Amino acid sequence: MTTNAELLSRRNAAVVRGIGHTTPISASRARNAELWDVEGKRYIDFAGGIAVLNTGHCHPKVLAAVQEQMSRFTHTCFQVVMYEPYIALAERLNAIAPIPGPLKTALFTTGAEATENAIKIARASTGRYGVIAFTGGFHGRTVLASALTGKVVPYKKDFGLALPGIWHAPFPTAENGITSEDALKHIDFIFKADIAPGAIAAIILEPVQGEGGFHQAPAELMSGLRKLCDQHGIVLIADEVQTGFGRTGKMFAMEHYDVAPDIICVAKSLAGGFPISGVIGKAAIMDAADPGGLGGTYAGNPLACAAALAVLDVFEEEQLVQRAVAIGQQLRTWLDRIRMRNDLIPIANVRGPGAMVAFDIVKDGVDREPDPAATRDVIQRAYENGLILLSCGVHANTIRVLVPLTAEERSIDEGLEILAKALVAK
Ligand code: PMP
Repeated sequence: MTTNAELLSRRNAAVVRGIGHTTPISASRARNAELWDVEGKRYIDFAGGIAVLNTGHCHPKVLAAVQEQMSRFTHTCFQVVMYEPYIALAERLNAIAPIPGPLKTALFTTGAEATENAIKIARASTGRYGVIAFTGGFHGRTVLASALTGKVVPYKKDFGLALPGIWHAPFPTAENGITSEDALKHIDFIFKADIAPGAIAAIILEPVQGEGGFHQAPAELMSGLRKLCDQHGIVLIADEVQTGFGRTGKMFAMEHYDVAPDIICVAKSLAGGFPISGVIGKAAIMDAADPGGLGGTYAGNPLACAAALAVLDVFEEEQLVQRAVAIGQQLRTWLDRIRMRNDLIPIANVRGPGAMVAFDIVKDGVDREPDPAATRDVIQRAYENGLILLSCGVHANTIRVLVPLTAEERSIDEGLEILAKALVAK
């Protein structure tokens, strides 16, 4: 039998250090919210491959759709010979995205490609170059996407000069004491100090920051940004790569607001583990780029399109948006009970809409300082006891729950029992 230790050692010798890993195990198989490692040990998966598995590991309908597509063809490159699953997925996304129509969609492969292409499209449609993003935001690891990302370590440190033309405004959170009014004022400072609003192509933000710690953009920020964009002809881009597809208790997190963006970026849970991303937006903006300016060899791969169409069916058939609300309530009730206990490692700031739930691990005492070391220990103990967990947040002390929305009750209960054990101080 191949062991986890053998694979870890081969991995360390063959795979670069810059690609991190949360657990030292290697997967052998997985189903819904359960995963087995190469030694046969079973885990409950609260990470969902970083927000990719809202429909669980290997959903039978998704696998069947991919197998059916695989039996016909696996690749033509949409730019060479078109295929219906791409067109059908674009139609379907245009029909459900919370943006006033008419809409058009472009498909790509990764989340970073979605955010990069959204910026390219906004630049082509406005003829401007400037972009405003937010501190704590995460938009990917490619050169433009990491320049949009509002966190230096580990995404920008050591990688040289970030692309110019991008400014970061502070993202309002309860933790950093910045209000929506402060954030909007800061953008006004940028307009006075750095770049005229008439040279800004786009403002990009996550409706709920994912990697940044599950902080939801306040309604006043979103409406203030919409007003600013309307006033100056700026394209408002919602990066829904992590929030997308039911996680927040709405199909798109932008449905929590009474204003709409011009463009939405999607990826991750769109295709239940098959690599695909998309940029959906107002047709007049989306059509600005000339033929050939957008695309990619694998962009909108037919297997991933088939998977995405099946995922959207599963969302409807299994009412996963409603399920996200119920799972979120279950998690919050449980975490609120844990928060009141004084025999466990202290947790605070239980937050997040729908099933996009996170909490902080903090030190004892009135200041409730972030405790990244204890957070690492909790994640380690959880994995040793059979639960895969992920951290996030600017202080690396946030634990986020991204359990599949298809997870059975008993899997969620089992995961929470293991989490409670992991929160016992050593
Ligand atoms: N945007 C957001 C909001 C994300 O959470 C991520 C991935 N964590 C990305 C973009 C980048 O996606 P990918 O890793 O697929 O490039």
